[in-house]
Amino acid sequence: MQCLYQAGNRIEAQLLLALLEQHRIDAVVLGDYLAGAAGELPADIFPSVWLIDERDLIPARALLAQFLNPPPAPSAAPWVCPSCGEPVECNFDLCWNCGRERT
Ligand SMILES: [Zn+2]
Repeated sequence: MQCLYQAGNRIEAQLLLALLEQHRIDAVVLGDYLAGAAGELPADIFPSVWLIDERDLIPARALLAQFLNPPPAPSAAPWVCPSCGEPVECNFDLCWNCGRERT
């Protein structure tokens, strides 16, 4: 077993585990002692993600880097008004400058 990552919380650990499984890398979360327990979880639990097979370390580290620094979603980028050329924040559907609708 090879430790890949010390997660900040169990949700992060489970998300990383799911990502690894999508790429057919066998891994487990350790330190998640309260898995399945109901109620509030203590803040001082830091689960770690371990690889079953150490040979998966290189691809797993690449996935980890992607997991920690995901590429920005396309919808988060400002759009450019086709009418006046002004950049408009992604959460607006109308150009603030000339009122044209987002296409
Ligand atoms: Zn405009």
